[in-house]
Amino acid sequence: PLPHIPDNLTISQFFLQPSTSTHSRPIRPSNVPFFINDRTGHGVTYEDAHRRTFGLANALSIKYNIGLRHCLPLESLQYLSHLSQVPRMLTTRSPSGLFIRLEGSSRKPANPSYTVDELKHQLTLTKAKLIAVHPDCLDVAKAAAAACGLSEKSFLLLDASPSGPHSDTETIDQLIAFGESKGENYSAIRLAPGEARRTVAFLSFSSGTTGKPKAVAIPHFSVIANVVQMAAHYRLNDPQTPAKCISPGDVVLGVLPFFHIYGLVVIMHYTLYAGASIVVMPKFNFTQFLDSISRHKISHLYVVPPQVVLLCKHPASQGRDFSHVKFCLSGAAPMNGDLMMQVSKLFTNAAIGQGYGLTETSTTICSLQHDRKLGTIGSAGALIPGIIAKVVKPDGTLASEGEQGELIVKGPAMAMGYYDNPAATAETFVDGWVRTGDEVIIRNLEVFVVDRLKEIMKVRGFQVAPAELEGHLLLHPDVADVCVVGIADEYSGEIPLAFIVPTANALERMNGDREKTEELKRKLEKHVSDHKIQYKWLAGGVEFIDAIPKNPSGKILRRVLREHAKTMKKPKALR
Ligand code: AMP
Repeated sequence: PLPHIPDNLTISQFFLQPSTSTHSRPIRPSNVPFFINDRTGHGVTYEDAHRRTFGLANALSIKYNIGLRHCLPLESLQYLSHLSQVPRMLTTRSPSGLFIRLEGSSRKPANPSYTVDELKHQLTLTKAKLIAVHPDCLDVAKAAAAACGLSEKSFLLLDASPSGPHSDTETIDQLIAFGESKGENYSAIRLAPGEARRTVAFLSFSSGTTGKPKAVAIPHFSVIANVVQMAAHYRLNDPQTPAKCISPGDVVLGVLPFFHIYGLVVIMHYTLYAGASIVVMPKFNFTQFLDSISRHKISHLYVVPPQVVLLCKHPASQGRDFSHVKFCLSGAAPMNGDLMMQVSKLFTNAAIGQGYGLTETSTTICSLQHDRKLGTIGSAGALIPGIIAKVVKPDGTLASEGEQGELIVKGPAMAMGYYDNPAATAETFVDGWVRTGDEVIIRNLEVFVVDRLKEIMKVRGFQVAPAELEGHLLLHPDVADVCVVGIADEYSGEIPLAFIVPTANALERMNGDREKTEELKRKLEKHVSDHKIQYKWLAGGVEFIDAIPKNPSGKILRRVLREHAKTMKKPKALR
């Protein structure tokens, strides 16, 4: 049974001010920090969080005239403001105060992950007015902002020293100090009953069942609800059940990006609710990841399948003492049964399994059961309390238990829809139900994801929208038509492969010459890698074909090319 979920509280009020709600929850001892900086070991306490929250909200209201209503979601910025070492970007929008989070970590400082085009797309969609950005990403953010007509004054820097190279841009710490030095400029927020269901807290990006990435509007209530659902699933508040899955004193590794719904809800908010601590790693590096697990005696690991592959196959993980790991959950993409068995030999004391969810459902739909040491092979977990699921067959009728069809779900944590996009919203959010676009079988309330009906690929757990890459490739003068499909890859799960129909001009130039053909393929791959973040690159390569198969109304028959790709020789994989 699901306990009462308050629908008149903001995320900050629910998670940071437990006294505002009658909802009972694990008690966090005062010496247990919220966040621990992986590099320095420095911890951030509740008191720090309260102080900084006030300072930030106050300063935003005084300096940027982001008022009572607008401050509301920005209170959540407090979390980000503690992660001063973390290379991330965050943008915020006034007047309605929406904000999005983007990863901006870079392999090379000069090459931040998100490109100008990608960031511009997100800034335009969200009509962002204020951008909090890591110094490594400032140049890209400035170029994208200039392309959207945003002023030079729209930036706040995370993790920058006042005497550093960007000393002309205000830092979050300076803003907080300014806010703390002033008298309170806004009154406390009081939401009416039900208002938290309609008040957007986050815009997270997802392509849904078709098309380019869209901003999913996630209200405060959905984040709170999903956390309460998971707590009920894992019996966190039940004194009879030892809090096997997470409790105060446990330490979670925060290595997945907080801009993705998995990091945001499952790692950040669920851990805060459970009273445990999060060690924040700035970016993923496998040997540092192993070292952090050992150094901080991590008890709970939330990972994606490529990280499980490395854990199982990389020599550096062998011979280590992982006896402190109690729980290891893989999500965001399918983890095969072999891998789960292998990783269970590494983490001998841990419960191991999968979780499954979507940005559109504010994450978790199903998860490993609380009383299981090992998930069922191929199972994405059992439906969590509060989820109502139906499986619909291609002919529109309901599947019975064990029959395959599209999973369609309902529950308290569903998102509100796609921001500013009623047409796409109507396709996915239907009468209170969310179409997952995933083909599943349900047995004993356990969900087995067997295929994906929607277009997206999942590359290392990240969504890649074929429509985005196809639109970009069509801009190239040598491309007449294109279809991008995902092909299986042991490490990444899937990698993009482009089937391209060259223009008559390009065909003439190639004239059957092998070298010229390969050269054009390389050019087209570069056309993508020059403009897109690395996981979207055409690691599956380019294949020239005569025509893209389409149905009579012109819709690409993607499945035909996906099947064709399976028959081709194994492509090279760029990593
Ligand atoms: P996102 O909105 O980026 O979290 O992507 C959601 C999609 O990721 C789902 O619709 C699934 O296609 C896929 N997904 C997430 N978790 C799993 C899982 N455990 N097994 C299979 N697919 C998954």
